[in-house]
Amino acid sequence: MKGFAMKKIGEIGWIEKEEPFCGPMDALVKPLALSPCTSDVHTVWEGAIGDRKDMILGHEGCGVVVKVGELVKDFKIGDRVMVAAITPDWNSLEAQGGFSMHSGGMLAGWKFSNFKDGVFGEVFHVNDADGNLAHLPDEISPEEACMLSDMVPTGFHGVELADVQFGDTVLVVGIGPVGLMAVAGANLRGASRIICVGTREICKQVAKGYGATDFIGYKEGSIDEQVLKLTNGVGVDKAIIAGGGVETFEPVIKCLKPGGKIGNVNYLGSGTYINIPRIEWGVGMGHKQILGGLMPGGRLRLEKLASLIACGKLDVKPLLTHKFKGFEHVEDALLLMKDKPADLIKPVVVL
Ligand code: NDP
Ligand code: ZN
Repeated sequence: MKGFAMKKIGEIGWIEKEEPFCGPMDALVKPLALSPCTSDVHTVWEGAIGDRKDMILGHEGCGVVVKVGELVKDFKIGDRVMVAAITPDWNSLEAQGGFSMHSGGMLAGWKFSNFKDGVFGEVFHVNDADGNLAHLPDEISPEEACMLSDMVPTGFHGVELADVQFGDTVLVVGIGPVGLMAVAGANLRGASRIICVGTREICKQVAKGYGATDFIGYKEGSIDEQVLKLTNGVGVDKAIIAGGGVETFEPVIKCLKPGGKIGNVNYLGSGTYINIPRIEWGVGMGHKQILGGLMPGGRLRLEKLASLIACGKLDVKPLLTHKFKGFEHVEDALLLMKDKPADLIKPVVVL
């Protein structure tokens, strides 16, 4: 079969591979729609997870089941399915402990385009199919379903990590597609003011639609000074980090109220340390928490998040700025994600 792969750090291209083996609890899926991710860009061009040779890329997509193992109970050939970017081993001790995304080791629930081939193949493999697939509801298009693989669950996980409550003032650093879903999630959770950091005009427009109330630019001065000015020196209750690099934590801690929480879902592709400012961290006693987390995967979560779209509470269509038709355009879509033109939020390829 054909797949679009990382050949080595900094090099991509089409390759031929054997169709994946389908174990007794697994499924093989033929894609209906696919989308590249900023994480693919970190992986290929920053070498952020180390080198990979001829690894098929991609972890966002949906498709049709073409094969199932003999122990799979709830899915059959021909079913239209969604799948999350993170596909844990649900029998693992880590999953039993509540951290499915780390099943088998830190971040090891992230298998696609990390420990095994990703979804940019003519067929892709899904482990633990009953736990990791979900039926694609008729109300949701394949393009929209791609946003349920990663953008919605990751942005919303940032909101969960930051523990957003009714009436909170929330800072969202980065309003690419992940940050935009964090804005939407914070809004659904009852945030009052939502202050966004980002410069791309299209992202700002879409953020307003999702509930953003204020904008600041990281290129126009420090984030903390601008946030403190907007909030009369008080700061924010919660913050979600979905963009920038290791340098974003310091200003966010500086403008977070005591007792505030930071939820980071940003993939830190480079740098060695994160600086925590001693004084603004309450000389160690400010109750300012930092939680960074890979999104959880799984069928239940996919079904619940999909129900938000199906019943009209969440609209992911504004994220889909660039649409391609045909598998061969996966390459164009990934290059768009790398170059991030001003009018791009998220490209999607319909097969
Ligand atoms: P984008 O590149 O589309 O968006 C990044 C945002 O961050 C933009 O709004 C950008 O602003 C802003 N930004 C850039 N530099 C800075 C800076 N120095 N300070 C503050 N803001 C800055 O990314 P995505 O939304 O696609 O992804 C966001 C991150 O989430 C990525 O690192 C991605 O790898 C990661 N991710 C993590 C997952 C997880 O499970 N934890 C899953 C999926 C993605 P501008 O408007 O100027 O471009
Ligand atoms: Zn992704």
